[in-house]
Amino acid sequence: MNEYDSGKMADILKDSHDLELTQDEALADVLLLNTCSVREKAQEKVFSQLGRWRKLKAKQPDILIGVGGCVASQEGQAILKRASYVDLIFGPQTLHRLPQLFDQAIKQKKAQIDISFPEIEKFDHMPEARVEGATAYVSIMEGCSKYCTFCVVPYTRGEEFSRPFDDVIAEIAGLAARGVKEVTLLGQNVNAYRGNMHDGGSADLALLMHYVAAIEGIGRIRYSTSHPLEMSDSLIQSYAEIPELVSHLHLPIQTGSNALLQSMKRRHTTDEYRDIMRRIRAIRPDISMSSDFIVGYPGETEQDFKDTMDFIAEINFDHSYSFVYSQRPGTPAADFDDDVPLGLKKQRLALLQQRLSQQSANISRKMVCSTQRILVTGLSPKQKKQLDLSAYDADKAVAVDFDAGVIGAGAKNSQLTGRTENNRVVNFTGNHDLIGTFVNVNITAAFSNSLQGELPSGSRHSIA
Ligand code: SAM
Repeated sequence: MNEYDSGKMADILKDSHDLELTQDEALADVLLLNTCSVREKAQEKVFSQLGRWRKLKAKQPDILIGVGGCVASQEGQAILKRASYVDLIFGPQTLHRLPQLFDQAIKQKKAQIDISFPEIEKFDHMPEARVEGATAYVSIMEGCSKYCTFCVVPYTRGEEFSRPFDDVIAEIAGLAARGVKEVTLLGQNVNAYRGNMHDGGSADLALLMHYVAAIEGIGRIRYSTSHPLEMSDSLIQSYAEIPELVSHLHLPIQTGSNALLQSMKRRHTTDEYRDIMRRIRAIRPDISMSSDFIVGYPGETEQDFKDTMDFIAEINFDHSYSFVYSQRPGTPAADFDDDVPLGLKKQRLALLQQRLSQQSANISRKMVCSTQRILVTGLSPKQKKQLDLSAYDADKAVAVDFDAGVIGAGAKNSQLTGRTENNRVVNFTGNHDLIGTFVNVNITAAFSNSLQGELPSGSRHSIA
């Protein structure tokens, strides 16, 4: 979601002030920091980055420094106490007001702060999205109304609100017309989507995905991130009815202990999670599952942790996200005794991550000798590096691929890269006109971060 928001900030300032994105801070006129406050570590990084930028501003006082995202939303004016040289402070719901804040900061020569929650207004003020390849993120809802005890999101992004159905469909149709083949529908609780329809009705995520799948060119749909409470019958049934919906589901559970689930106010049990899984696996037996885990939540006993480890083995989770519990100010759990020592939290996290890595390595190994449908996204990193080096040779004409990489002219058999439904990177040899298409690839080897594949013989150009 933050990546998506950062892209939007760049689009907005390009549109309003013709500002170009640069990765080199020494060249920048405006330095923007998009922040996350879901864990303390991410929050602390904000102030160390601002400290480094202070030196740049001392040399060039005209540089504008902005802080957006959830730390800005949570801290607001308080950011100026620790970093008085910041010029713009805006929240996730006011990033569309950047151009005005920018102009006012210059005119009034004083810091501008807008961390209000004008909700849907944001989406009505976005320029057309940039398309940089065959995949795109589309934000369809924001915020969270679940109020899990540990989580700061409802306070920084606000309650759940959904974009109108027609707006989402129009955006995706526009992306598809510009070559996008795969969309990831985004939201903090994306399966809580309830978008107003022009006839006065309301669409849930399942209905939205039926319409998205019907858009010409869209061959793959993902959604992230979801909440077990919102796995409705219609959403589960989508796995039977929408072939474009990938066989991969990211469904956060946080812990395998029912006592902790209750304390976290997740409002479901491990058995209810198992039941969702049972029903989806009855439709898609090979679906890949991933999740989020919090280790060392207040009161976590050895038995609670063992329950989590057993649950991970039982569901056979694939690549997942796991974190040490981080006490967040303003959340209900901030009043609980943070009683698991940090050393023990880290020890448990290491064990849990080791199990998840073993499981995902086993899943990768089992994929060897299977045929996978992949979306080809560009040149493999190795090929890019080689061609970047050879691009210095003036005799070699170059073309630019979807990933902004460089392809030697006439590079018929490039090392290409793509992604499987369960999000594995596959490198294989093929003609670069396959970039941006779906192909079937035989998997020949599994490595820790990628798979090797080859096009079936006689089908070097086959498009599945
Ligand atoms: N839909 C998701 C759900 O069901 O919880 C919400 C995703 S949340 C924005 C991202 C993840 O950050 C959570 O799933 C959780 O694992 C992690 N997280 C949130 N608050 C945390 C905290 N205080 N400490 C550690 N991890 C946290």
